[in-house]
Amino acid sequence: MTSSKHAETTVLHAGPRAEPVTGAVAVPIYQTTSYQFRDTEHASNLFALKEIAHIYSRITNPTNEALELKLTALEGGAAAMTVSSGQAASALALQNICRAGDNIVTSTDLYGGTWNLFKHTFPTMGIEVRFVDPKDPEAFRRASDDRTRAYYAETLPNPKLAVFPIGEVARIGRSLGIPLVMDNTAAPVICKPFEHGAAIVVYSTTKYIGGHGTSIGGAIIDSGTFDWETNARRFPMLNEPDPSYHGAIWTEAVKPLGPIAYLVKARTTLQRDLGMCMSPFNAFQFIQGMETLPLRMREHCRNAEAVAEYLSRHDAVTRVIFPGMHKDRETDRRAATYLKGGRGGLVGFELAGGVEAGRGFIDALKMFYHVANIGDARSLAIHPASTTHSQLTEEEQLATGVTPGYVRLSVGIEHIDDIIADLDQALEQAQGLKKAA
Ligand code: PLP
Repeated sequence: MTSSKHAETTVLHAGPRAEPVTGAVAVPIYQTTSYQFRDTEHASNLFALKEIAHIYSRITNPTNEALELKLTALEGGAAAMTVSSGQAASALALQNICRAGDNIVTSTDLYGGTWNLFKHTFPTMGIEVRFVDPKDPEAFRRASDDRTRAYYAETLPNPKLAVFPIGEVARIGRSLGIPLVMDNTAAPVICKPFEHGAAIVVYSTTKYIGGHGTSIGGAIIDSGTFDWETNARRFPMLNEPDPSYHGAIWTEAVKPLGPIAYLVKARTTLQRDLGMCMSPFNAFQFIQGMETLPLRMREHCRNAEAVAEYLSRHDAVTRVIFPGMHKDRETDRRAATYLKGGRGGLVGFELAGGVEAGRGFIDALKMFYHVANIGDARSLAIHPASTTHSQLTEEEQLATGVTPGYVRLSVGIEHIDDIIADLDQALEQAQGLKKAA
């Protein structure tokens, strides 16, 4: 039963219903490196992609496959590949179609790890990264040329929490033959980037998909809707013979399997060569997480909205940063267009007392965890100016949306009264600090 359009049902029932030998309902952890071939013909068919079955767990594994099927169904895509982390997902998603001399155009509003990957590591590989402000979708068109291989952005980037114009940029990309890769880590279930024209979705499954802060992982999902062939010159890595795989031309070789040339190539070349695979144990953990993901997202969203409202009435708080509350018509319109059923679990706010108030607030929290993470079932908080963004100058911090008194909350699924009570007592202490100063 994989055809439901309801996320709550999909996450429970997509993929294998039971393990075929024992009938086990929960997906087993297939802790194996390799899989016995029936005979030599079977083995050579698998290597030639004439038959599809498991060969070696760096490339595929049945536990990982069960998670991949759930992710594919939830996103409404054609195929998925799990990887070792969210960082691996972003890197491989782009390296699959970019090589030295090529470029990508990215939104400036990025997770710090992705920023470093693009600003520092990709250039050492000869991949140029062009940063544009997502406020103006046309900036993507202006930054593109014949060597542009992809657009990249996050659905709900923090700390700004300004939703990315997915449809606008995807349309520009499709008109030029450039795929949009969306990092949907902060908005699973509530945003479906494929419905708005994105070609590829990447996740850090470490966050909401896992949901319990136990495992690092990532995933790449192929929509199966992007035309890699009409504009073949833009994608030589998919349309020219690949010497590493008997001269296969991926768009042709994979046709019998469906519109998944991009994903199959990523698995059979990059995963084979770079080996950033997810462990089956972590895949098992993410499957448990996925089964309650829609339920948890509903609670995260409901609690975050209540927190944003509470903070907006508090006199120690000078500004609340939350989708739909930006007081900028276009930014709020994008939140309403692209987020359905909630505005996510992240809330930012600014304290009048600057760095001291921010630090004082964090130190006063009793229930919230003080960690550099998001998307846990527990409520989390951090003061970016003194932690994640402390290496940046104050000017650079401001450009990324971090003011001295900015606090980021990842609102959990505890009872809302307990969440507010903890915020309330911490705000009171932070205010006390300010009065004493
Ligand atoms: N993308 C976003 C939006 C993130 O917040 C993170 C991590 O915080 C990542 C990607 C990287 O994920 P991972 O830590 O699983 O490598």
